[in-house]
Amino acid sequence: MNSKVLVTALLAVAAAHAELKVLANFPNGSVGQVSAVNPLHLRVGMKGQTDQDGRNRQASWYSFEVSGVPKGAEVIIDLVDLPGEYNYQANRGAITNDTRPYWKEGKKGLWQEALGDYDPEEPKWRLRIRPKKSTFYVAHIPPYTEKNLGLLRKALKPSIELLGKSIGGKPLELWTFDLSGGKADAPVVWMMFRQHAWEAGTSWAGDGFMRNLPPGVVWKILPWNDPDGVETGGVRFNQKGFDLNRNWDAPNDVSKRPEILAQKTAIEAWLKEGKKIDLFLTLHNTETGEYLEGPPESKLGRDLYAVLKDRTSFDPDRDYFSRMKVEGAGRANVIQWLWGTHKVPAMLMELRVAHSKKLGKRPNAEIWSEFGAALAKQIAALLLVAK
Ligand SMILES: [Zn+2]
Repeated sequence: MNSKVLVTALLAVAAAHAELKVLANFPNGSVGQVSAVNPLHLRVGMKGQTDQDGRNRQASWYSFEVSGVPKGAEVIIDLVDLPGEYNYQANRGAITNDTRPYWKEGKKGLWQEALGDYDPEEPKWRLRIRPKKSTFYVAHIPPYTEKNLGLLRKALKPSIELLGKSIGGKPLELWTFDLSGGKADAPVVWMMFRQHAWEAGTSWAGDGFMRNLPPGVVWKILPWNDPDGVETGGVRFNQKGFDLNRNWDAPNDVSKRPEILAQKTAIEAWLKEGKKIDLFLTLHNTETGEYLEGPPESKLGRDLYAVLKDRTSFDPDRDYFSRMKVEGAGRANVIQWLWGTHKVPAMLMELRVAHSKKLGKRPNAEIWSEFGAALAKQIAALLLVAK
């Protein structure tokens, strides 16, 4: 028997005894139904999440561990059950050819794009992974968990206000970095990161943003609005099914939407004290779109758009625009509510997770973090010059 035949024979034996195990029992983990095609080929379903009416299924988050890989074996993972619905329109799902999954070797490996192909027919992603270790991880994009935020909190020591608790009892916090130097007329910026649990890219951006705050500004930061979702691998709805970036005009109800209520109350309390908000900006991730939207005819919006396009990795696929009309009761997002109710210059930015032409690659944790730093710098420069 030559050595190649021997290796193949041993692998066949190993495969017959392989017992791959798929788990998501860790922070931000998420996985749906798992079945085996053969001992080294698994079909891994996306758990997805639906809203309070069982509609708008979105399956754009998965993060799981595969263990028990025999030495030298190639594992095939089919990611299935991808289709969903967005704003009540059926779609093929958020996981497509544009969003090649990430994987890493063992707990300490580096996230990298997985080998494999997208099959638009089923649709599914078929990954071929040959790890050196017996355990590997697969995720939609590199996760950012409570542990990461904890490290940031410890490093930066912001002034923290507890705004309330999530359905799951987790603290909802407002972080303040008063860098005004005592100047009463210093610009005030409110930032919101990770409104939706799956959008880890915005947390990476927030991390870079907060570590690089320019002086002269009062920075009010809402680090995330869905700590339960971040913990349990949620997508965009809280534990009662409410979309964290809709429902801002729905009745205040602490039993259903404590997260939105906590943030709303904090912003309104600030305004009621007669304090200003020069800019409010919430960051989101999409699969392929990248843009900035805000109030109509906003000079600040257009200027911010221009400098970001010019000087940062921001790679918009459309011009600055406005859509402040709310599509039915309970459908207002945070900026529609803030602008509509309080005339706050409120803006929303989407950052894509797919390939960026400008970068020549896909963004990752490091790129998002650098973008966050650049965003803070450009916002401060614009507002300080405007004064
Ligand atoms: Zn979002």
